[in-house]
Amino acid sequence: MKRQMPFVLSKEKSFYESLNDWIGDTLYDDLTEKGFECRDEQIYMAFQIEQALKEKKVLMAEAGVGTGKTIAYLLPAIAYARYTGKPALISCADETLIDQLVKKEGDIHKLSEALAIDIDVRLAKARDQYLCLKRLEETADSSEEEYADIVQSELPEFVRGNASLQSIFPYGERSDYPDLNDEQWKSINFHPIQQCAACDVRNRCGQTIHRNHYRESVDLIICSHDFYMEHIWTKESRKRQGQLALLPEVSMVVFDEGHLLEYSAQRALTYEVQNNTLLNLLERVMVDGIREETLQLMERLIDAHEHFFRLLRTNASNHDETRKAIAKTDELVAVGKEAMTISTALLEEFVFEGELYIIPEYDLTMVEEYLEQYIFSLELFISDNEAVDWLEERKDEMTLIIMPRLVTDILREKLFSSNIPIVFSSATLSVDQDFSYILDSLGIEEFLSFSVDSPFDYEQAMEVVLADVDSGGKTNYVESLLENEEQTLILFKSEVSMRAFQRALSDEHKQNIAFEGERELSAIIRDFQQKNVRILCSYHLWEGLDIPGDALTRVVIYDLPFPPNDPLFNARRKNAKHPFEDVDLPFMLLRLRQGAGRLIRTSGDYGSIHVLMEGSEKELKTIVSKAFPVESKTVVRK
Ligand code: SF4
Repeated sequence: MKRQMPFVLSKEKSFYESLNDWIGDTLYDDLTEKGFECRDEQIYMAFQIEQALKEKKVLMAEAGVGTGKTIAYLLPAIAYARYTGKPALISCADETLIDQLVKKEGDIHKLSEALAIDIDVRLAKARDQYLCLKRLEETADSSEEEYADIVQSELPEFVRGNASLQSIFPYGERSDYPDLNDEQWKSINFHPIQQCAACDVRNRCGQTIHRNHYRESVDLIICSHDFYMEHIWTKESRKRQGQLALLPEVSMVVFDEGHLLEYSAQRALTYEVQNNTLLNLLERVMVDGIREETLQLMERLIDAHEHFFRLLRTNASNHDETRKAIAKTDELVAVGKEAMTISTALLEEFVFEGELYIIPEYDLTMVEEYLEQYIFSLELFISDNEAVDWLEERKDEMTLIIMPRLVTDILREKLFSSNIPIVFSSATLSVDQDFSYILDSLGIEEFLSFSVDSPFDYEQAMEVVLADVDSGGKTNYVESLLENEEQTLILFKSEVSMRAFQRALSDEHKQNIAFEGERELSAIIRDFQQKNVRILCSYHLWEGLDIPGDALTRVVIYDLPFPPNDPLFNARRKNAKHPFEDVDLPFMLLRLRQGAGRLIRTSGDYGSIHVLMEGSEKELKTIVSKAFPVESKTVVRK
């Protein structure tokens, strides 16, 4: 269904001329009359986007905090969607940001009310953001905890088959279960090994219902960078398998917080092998009546697989990084090959088993699909190619991750050559208006760009303190800050750093502090905004967090957010002429500016930023001080 244009098209003017007039009238007059601030920077940005639509180009739109970037891209996006008959896609850095964009107080609702237009906006979240009925049932049956039973009991009637399918509605999103911690959620959400195409409850599954819903959007589809990248990588293979692409055709794409796209592209492009998955899957098909030959091969595969993971752990670097480099010894390669050979033989046995109908069909399909991907991943890992690989360990789970190529080639081929307008919107896309870092990391060659500063009076609103502390003195510095009861956000460069701080913190200071990961992040943010929590510790909220007013008046940068010393960044360093200057430093400065941008969100906001520096961090004081819009002062703490 095509919706009415928000302005009248005439024969005398092109669509772009009419769009230009409408943007001007709306931002200068209509919205100002309704109480919106009229900002020159915002109007300039909206006109630049209109130009990118006209030329069907990539636009790097760098606009400081407070410009009103969202409204600047929403106006042309809605008009362009209605003009072309295809929705515009807004891709956000993560699921929390999606929620912020569509919440009642968010810009889309405000715009809709002020202009009296009904904006059709639908969410397409990443698949792991939805409940999986299959996994929920398994967890409810096997877990001693009650949470899965509670979730089951609260499912809509139609899921249990007690109501007609006419009454179905979207349900089962992560944000519907704010009280579940991340670990609980991960036991009941979608997992990539699930075979949705062969699932018997597919038409009652929340994920499927959501997908059918957002496909019909007329104006806007909102998704995360992760999901959009998954769509790009899987589009062709899904088509080959007779499945619909994850997202429909769109007229244009806006990457909000576009500087974070590279990380999502990398994640989507990787193959993963977990130590426990193979065993769990094979156990499902070890049913009574299965042939002896098949059983023996499965047992041999489990032994080879466990041996392989023991060797992976032994040969992984001991760094405290999440991504650990792996030394590929002859023994490791030989055991990997053995696991591949047994898997291939097992797949042949499964063809035979399939004819006997002893193993349930859904389980057999799931194991077969998994084994094919397992063989492909091990082949990539052990063959001598350009792949980048690493090991990640969390609690009792180890994951081998393999990325076949650097993302630049693939993005160039599958995204930037698509001839649709693409807008990167962020407060931090360049270092001193030089966009090289982001352009190189994404493989963009042709583009338009502009930079506009924030309209805020930072001199009045912001104080920046560079805290020069002795080695090991950061926790003491933070504890002394916490004596005064201010709403404080503490940002860490990694989870490891945040957990170390948590352990070092004295009991008396642990009151009223929320740490990321303890509960669903949006729920923690809500509590912080309502001042039920005074201190929020996070390693993700360097960007996107939008808390105006006195609910956030102090930001502490606990450590300089350099990229990790891991195989992925090492691959990029290897390709750079000056690794520190071309990779590490721009990454850190962009992230630092993002973190600082959390403090002043509206013209009435005020507060302080404390950057904690110890050891070699102190050598960068001059460079760091230039990242802020006001002069910093240094305090020295022994
Ligand atoms: S369709 Fe997929 S996500 Fe939904 S219940 Fe089935 S397997 Fe789980």
